[in-house]
Amino acid sequence: MTTAGTDLITVEGVNKHFGAHHVLKDVSTTFRAGEVTVILGASGSGKSTLLRMLNRLETHDSGRILVDGIEVNDDTRQLEKLRAEVGMVFQQFNLFPHLTVLENVALAPRRVRGLSRAEAEARATELITRVGLADHIHKHPFQLSGGQQQRVAIARSLAMQPKVLLFDEPTSALDPEMVKEVLDVMKQLARSGMTMLVVTHEMGFAREVADRVLFIDQGRIAADAPPDVFFGRQDNERVRAFLGRIL
Ligand code: ADP
Ligand code: MG
Repeated sequence: MTTAGTDLITVEGVNKHFGAHHVLKDVSTTFRAGEVTVILGASGSGKSTLLRMLNRLETHDSGRILVDGIEVNDDTRQLEKLRAEVGMVFQQFNLFPHLTVLENVALAPRRVRGLSRAEAEARATELITRVGLADHIHKHPFQLSGGQQQRVAIARSLAMQPKVLLFDEPTSALDPEMVKEVLDVMKQLARSGMTMLVVTHEMGFAREVADRVLFIDQGRIAADAPPDVFFGRQDNERVRAFLGRIL
C-alpha cells in the first residue's frame, strides 16, 4: 500500500492533439495517494482523454506522466505493470458477456497476477460480496441490471489490487434508480482509502466524497479546489456558467 498523502500520479506539461485539434493544453497536476478527485467539465473538454492517458489507453504528445514511479511511455514491459496498478471503470461496464460474475472478476488476477484458480476465486468472491452481489455470483452479465453490472465492473477492477481507480462517468448509462447503489459502493471505496479519479456529473457525490474538484475547460485545468470552495463563492465565470447549466 502506498502511504496516504504521498504523490501517486504526476502530470507535467502534458499536451494532446487529435489532428489539428489541441485537446489538452499544458496540463500539470499531482494526485496524492488516498485522495478522491472529481473531474468536472463540459462535454468535449478533455476529461476522458486525461483519464485514458494515465493508463496509456491514449498517448500524450509531450510532457511527462508518472504513476507510482512508472513513467508512462511506449515501454511495453512498463505498460503491463502500469495497467495492473491503474484500474478503470467505464460508462458501459465492458464485462465479458460469456463469463459469469465470478469468472469476470477472477480472470485478470489469474492471467496477469498469476494467482491459482482457488486463490483468484476466493479473492473474487470476497469482492463480489463487498459490492453486494454474493447471490449473483454464477449469473452472466445479461441476467443483471445495469447497476449490478457496474458493481461487478468495480469488483473486477479491485481484484487486481490497483493503486488507483479511474472512473469515467460510471453512472451515466444507468437508469436513475440504479445510480445510488453504484455511488454507495464508490463512497465505501473512498472511505477505505482508495485513490480515485472520478469523472461524473453527480454533484452530490462531488460535494460529499471528493477531497478535490478539478474543472477542465477547453483542455486546461481552470479550477482546482476542495468542493466547499468550488461550490461556494465561485469567482470563475466559466465555472459559474458550467454549474448554472447542470445544477
Ligand atoms: P470529454 O470526456 O470531456 O467529453 P474527450 O476527452 O472525450 O472529452 O474529448 C475531447 C475532445 O477530443 C473532443 O472534441 C473529442 O471529440 C476529441 N476526441 C476524443 N477522442 C478522439 C479520437 N480518438 N479521435 C479524434 N478526436 C477525439
Ligand atoms: Mg468523456
